[in-house]
Amino acid sequence: MVQTFIGPEGRLPTPPIRRPVDFQQRPILVFWETTKACLLSCRHCRATALPTAMPGELSSRAGHQLLEQVAGFGKPAPILILTGGDCLMRPDLLELTAHARRLGLTVALSPSVTPRLTPAAMAPFLELGVRVVSISLDGATAATHDRVRGVPGHFDATVAALSWLREAGFKVQVNTTVMRENMTELADVTAMLHGLGIPLWEVFFLVSVGRGTAVSATSAAENEDISHFLFEASQYGFLVRTVEAPFFRRVATWRRGLGEVDDPQAYFALGSLYGDLRTRLRQLLGPGTERAMAPSVATRDGMGVIFVGHDGSVRPSGFLPHALGNIQVQELAEIYRENPMLRAIRASEFSGRCGQCAFRSLCGGSRARAFAATGDPLGEDPGCIFGAA
Ligand code: SF4
Repeated sequence: MVQTFIGPEGRLPTPPIRRPVDFQQRPILVFWETTKACLLSCRHCRATALPTAMPGELSSRAGHQLLEQVAGFGKPAPILILTGGDCLMRPDLLELTAHARRLGLTVALSPSVTPRLTPAAMAPFLELGVRVVSISLDGATAATHDRVRGVPGHFDATVAALSWLREAGFKVQVNTTVMRENMTELADVTAMLHGLGIPLWEVFFLVSVGRGTAVSATSAAENEDISHFLFEASQYGFLVRTVEAPFFRRVATWRRGLGEVDDPQAYFALGSLYGDLRTRLRQLLGPGTERAMAPSVATRDGMGVIFVGHDGSVRPSGFLPHALGNIQVQELAEIYRENPMLRAIRASEFSGRCGQCAFRSLCGGSRARAFAATGDPLGEDPGCIFGAA
């Protein structure tokens, strides 16, 4: 048995599970893949985006109906994230955003950094009340980021966009997909974000879907090291969240319970990746002195989160290609509330280690990674080391 915490399981208490809304009734986040069109062709793209829209993309009229369905969840309404592909490739994006705002929805945008992303293009969204924009940064160096994104000069354009979006008045979230190709740069990325004044870092742990099969996912042991590192990265004044790595909440629970210690490696069986990242971060920024900002809201694919594809198909998340229905034939709220698979996910009815884990309610594992590995959205998450034989 591999133990990641040296001490009896449960010695550190599991905190009360925080759910700001009733996740049986409504998600807090609805992701809409407005289009698969994108001028980039990133090596890890979940959406396998193409330069032009794919057949079957929701029309403006169907998009309006979707927005009305999102509002139809009732109050508190979910936050709507307009993603892609590149959402800026949709000619009607501004009009769709205006309709969402008329319906009272909070809207966030997730555009690609391309020549379409300009201050002039973004100003009307700010006027409509869009406050949050997420931008992807996949390395601390131009060499790494440009290799992943497949465009020379893209790193410089991304750093410039982070600055001008902030100056324009947007709250800028940085998304980083962690993979073997960039995992050793995470401390340098942390220092970059700190220097740029970024308030929120969302770290995606690669799931091998779409073009994500072309790059290397990190191992379970590396994920554990990275999770401990990210907990410490959240002590420098910005929020750190993970995507497809809910085991980060297990690690955060343990670390909060442990309190301040000089050497976490005395308590947790961690590898050299953790040690190297921690050392590098301290070289760059000194010890973190802020209260850890690692949220403990127990969302997972299909619980608090739902994804609508470019063609209206509904899935538990963008990384879990298991269609649950289509908003053109069934209301989104009905699919979310009634679909048996989603109900099972929310009831933590998992098999394997996740089904037996003391953290299955707080964490529950990445349903997308379980599906990619086993074909079963309720299987165990092989990206987690906890309880592994
Ligand atoms: S075994 Fe599953 S539920 Fe438990 S911490 Fe790991 S991923 Fe989460």
